[in-house]
Amino acid sequence: MKLYDKNDMVKAGCHDCKGCSSCCRGMGDTVILDPFDVYRLTTGLGKSFEELMNGKIALHVEEGIILPHIQMEEESGHCVFLNEEGRCRIHAYRPGLCRIFPLGRSYEEGTLKYFLLEDCPAENKTKVKVEKWIDTPDIRQNEKFLVTWHYLIKALREKTEEAQTVNVLLLKVFYFMPYSADIDFYSQFEERMVLFEEMLQTSKVES
Ligand code: SF4
Ligand code: SF4
Repeated sequence: MKLYDKNDMVKAGCHDCKGCSSCCRGMGDTVILDPFDVYRLTTGLGKSFEELMNGKIALHVEEGIILPHIQMEEESGHCVFLNEEGRCRIHAYRPGLCRIFPLGRSYEEGTLKYFLLEDCPAENKTKVKVEKWIDTPDIRQNEKFLVTWHYLIKALREKTEEAQTVNVLLLKVFYFMPYSADIDFYSQFEERMVLFEEMLQTSKVES
């Protein structure tokens, strides 16, 4: 599998997805949301995480960790944010996984790289710079956050004896606690990392 970094050129350009919404259909619970996605969605749409849990976001368990995902409609199987024209209603706030498609993320030894998925049917894809395709400001900081988040989740998966506490705290600190639209996401995330570790330690002492 060929891996790319943010400065590489990759054949991912799919002509503005004209006439296609394949990656917005039948995705089940795979459009997983990280805290940055929730920051973007809640501040962009002006809705709380609880409000979005009412039909837009659902929770699922993945290797012992409870994580949120974008919901697909029960009958049609397509994303709840897909409109009648087959376009994304929340394009500006769409999750990171939607932004990078047809790229996927690969984590190795503390670094993040990208690979090309084969699921996008667009023909004659054009070459684009990975960084441009991802369409996320301050990509260095974004990648730093993604790596931290990936390894946090990986480490938490091993805390099987504390799974219940871990899940309650993870949801509370990184998802349910409202994000401020006026403060940079990454500084809010760093503060929450400290808070999460403190709350986890406290819960250990108390148990
Ligand atoms: S599958 Fe490819 S062409 Fe179709 S909507 Fe997704 S990214 Fe666009
Ligand atoms: S959030 Fe938008 S881009 Fe992502 S799956 Fe739903 S409709 Fe598609």
